[in-house]
Formats: sequence, structure tokens, C-alpha cells
Amino acid sequence: MDAYGFDAEFAHDVRRSNEATHKVLVGIAACEKERHFVVLGFGSIYDWLIKRHKFSESAAHRRVQASRLLALVPEEKFTRGDVNLTTLTQVETSVRKEEKRTGQRMSQEAKRELVSKIERKTSAQTEQLLATEFPEAKTSKDTLRTLNEDHSRLTTDLPAKTRAKLERLKELLGTQNSAEVLDEAFTALLAKLETKETAPRETAAKSVPKKLRRYIIQRAKTCEYVDPVTQQRCNSTHNLQVDHVIPKAKGGTNQLSNLRCLCRQHNMHAAERIFGREHMNTFRTVRSPAKPYRVLHGSRPKVSGVEKSVEPRGPNTLILGSSFTI
Ligand SMILES: [Zn+2]
Repeated sequence: MDAYGFDAEFAHDVRRSNEATHKVLVGIAACEKERHFVVLGFGSIYDWLIKRHKFSESAAHRRVQASRLLALVPEEKFTRGDVNLTTLTQVETSVRKEEKRTGQRMSQEAKRELVSKIERKTSAQTEQLLATEFPEAKTSKDTLRTLNEDHSRLTTDLPAKTRAKLERLKELLGTQNSAEVLDEAFTALLAKLETKETAPRETAAKSVPKKLRRYIIQRAKTCEYVDPVTQQRCNSTHNLQVDHVIPKAKGGTNQLSNLRCLCRQHNMHAAERIFGREHMNTFRTVRSPAKPYRVLHGSRPKVSGVEKSVEPRGPNTLILGSSFTI
């Protein structure tokens, strides 16, 4: 086979691979829409992809982001490679940031136009285009990367007032090392927040008292939902909430035996099974999500799944390395 024959065959393989990727993205979009991952015992679509289907964090992140724009991309353009996982992810990330900044949803039409502008563009060209489209978008993004077993690197933007506090603490502690200051600060804050918890009195009060809530969540540490079919336990540490096994509306009490710790997704799922999805959807749009409680023991810091890119660093960007361990 000569070089041209080889190249044609390879092009065929690439196309097949793009078709397969497209199919996977369609599946992810459907799973997210139907919330199948909740039934299967996962706290998020990411958990489902990472734990069940063994994607890496960044691979899962890219696929979820890209799947959210998939409806705006004709399949042919994807399989031909005019747009790809990376460029779609870039667009979706920018759109999210812009929506957050303006507090308004971007129209499907505007998104479609944006997607058409990045056709046949490389990732670098797409980044440039997006920077022009959204000049006011902040580049602020926390990244927390594991360097090795003992060290992680945190990059974050500090407002001026926080920077001033950091500098003052450095002075007071006699160190130039930001990680040392943070460690001292974290230790002090944890000592303050992690007051000794004993099982609080069960109560007949209307809502679950704050202390009891904290006790339930710190006792469970993770979401207690278990898929009855596969025995998959969610174990999510995000947005943990206290759930009544028998709902209050059905005569359930605030007794410890009737309380459990669920993530927001599974709290909603449990309610849906009792009250129906349609009924619960009215809550989803009208009410803001319940305030999540942080678990201080055993929770891991959220690691951004975004692949790292070089970003301009302002004077208040703090990069922690070497001796800082999380
Ligand atoms: Zn859960």
C-alpha cells in the first residue's frame, strides 16, 4: 500500500472513531436528561462516567461539556471532524462563564451561531475566537492538581483584601511561605468548626435542627443512597442534605432512625419516587437548592476536571506548590 492508500484508510478509521464518539455523546446527553445516573446510584453524571465507565476526570468533563452542545451540531459536522470534543468543550465552558457573568441564559440561536464560527478551527484558534467574543469573561478558575503523593498545587485568584490578609499573616507568622500560612489558617478554622459532636436530642420540632443535621451528615460522611439492583452506593460528598426516610408529609418524624444523609440528586430522587417527578419538577424550578452542608471529615477538596491551560496570572493569583499538602 502506498502513502495515499494508507492515508485514505486511516481517514476512514478516524471517521469511524468520530462516529463512535458522537454516539457516546448522544448517550451522555440522554443519561443526563433522563437522570438515569441517579437511579443507578451515582451522585452526578461525572461519577457515573468515572466510576462506572472508567473515564478519567478530564475525559469525563470534556464529554459532558461537549454533549450539552451536541443538539446544535449536525452529526455530519462532528463525524467529519469540523468540530470536536475539545473545541465544543471550549465553547460550552465560555458560554457557562458568560451566562454566570451576565446572569442571563444564552439563546440556542446564539449558541448555534457560536458553534458554527468554530468549525474547522484548531483549539488555539477557538480560544482566540472565544476571547474576542467574550472580552469581559473572567479567566478566574481554581485548579488543584496532585503533584505527587505528598503535594498538590493550588492556583486561585485572590481579591485584594484576601491578599492583604495573607501578607499580614505572613508577617505575623514570620514566614514567606503561603502554604504555611494556609495550613495555620485551615487548622484554626477546622478547630473552630469541628466542635465535638455528640448525638443531639431527637426532636419533634418542625424542621430538622441545625445541630442534628450536622450530626447526621458528619456521621454518614457520604451520600447513603444504594441502588437496590446493583448495590452501587453513591458515596458522593457534594451537596449533602438530610432526608426523611418517611417524609414529613407522610407522617415521618425527626427521629434519628428516620433521618439519613443523601446528596441533592438522591434527595430529589427519593422525593420523586414518593411524590412523582412532575410534582417535584415544580420545586426544581421555583425553589433554589437547599443549602448544602460541608462535611469536614473525610471530604476531599473538589478537583477541577478541566484540563489545564496557561492563563494570564494577575498580581493576585496565588500559586501554591512545594510544601503545601492537601
Ligand atoms: Zn447520592
